[in-house]
Amino acid sequence: MSVTDKTAIVTGAASRRGIGRATAHALAAAGWNIAVLDLDETGAKAAAEEIAAAHGVPALGLACDVTDETSVTAALDTLTANARPVGALVNNAGITSPTPFLEVDGAEWDRIFAVNVRGAYNITRAVAPGMAERGFGRIVFLSSVSAERGGGVFGGVAYSAAKAAQLGFARALARELGPRGVTVNSVAPGLIDTDITGGLLEGERKAALLAGIPVGRNGRTADVADLITYLCREESGYITGATYDVNGGSHI
Ligand code: NAD
Repeated sequence: MSVTDKTAIVTGAASRRGIGRATAHALAAAGWNIAVLDLDETGAKAAAEEIAAAHGVPALGLACDVTDETSVTAALDTLTANARPVGALVNNAGITSPTPFLEVDGAEWDRIFAVNVRGAYNITRAVAPGMAERGFGRIVFLSSVSAERGGGVFGGVAYSAAKAAQLGFARALARELGPRGVTVNSVAPGLIDTDITGGLLEGERKAALLAGIPVGRNGRTADVADLITYLCREESGYITGATYDVNGGSHI
């Protein structure tokens, strides 16, 4: 058994400068077949083409709104018909919101939870039975340093709560699926330079932000992608229920 005969799904990998895109590249370089599932269909297809060309592995880009069960089912049906079995799932699709608690409303709270928590549920619920049946799976959740520190530079209360919910989800799932050969881990990045962090890493604010990070720089998408790829290795089967900080020490 080898990863080269399995597909790794990375949700939210259409964003060109995002963690998901870097992760899909790193997994492809390790031999995985790739499926990019994203709200942005054009971006997902472009990502798949780029990955297939760069690494010589099969890659599919599919439209998928992770908040919508029908959309998830349709994407996975296409995947099942056209790709090798799913061996890894990276729950990367996410949205943030900086809104202070005294200004947030229920609609925004629900929107943040819909993508980060319900979205991760929808796709994991659809993929996990096959993994358990085949006796192999690697699931990785993208949490955030915001879950541990309580908000901070770019995540408000709703985002921090949603990212903390993912940690409980991942640990409970790790306990249930461990006996079935499926590991479940979380990666909690700090300030990574992507579109989601937008203007935070520009101008005067940048120096102040970096001063709060012990290693003195923002994170790069490769810092996160490499760790996820390590967790997805077949040899990483004894690592489960863990949360990894990738934040330059900003959780200290
Ligand atoms: P990004 O904004 O660059 O990319 C997010 C991707 O998710 C986009 O391609 C977008 O189209 C997709 N997406 C959004 N809603 C979706 C939906 N409903 N269905 C399917 N796809 C959807 O984000 P990023 O900075 O690369 O972050 C990736 C993950 O890492 C997120 O979960 C984020 O919360 C987490 N994270 C990021 C940072 C950071 O500093 N960038 C830090 C901690 C955690």
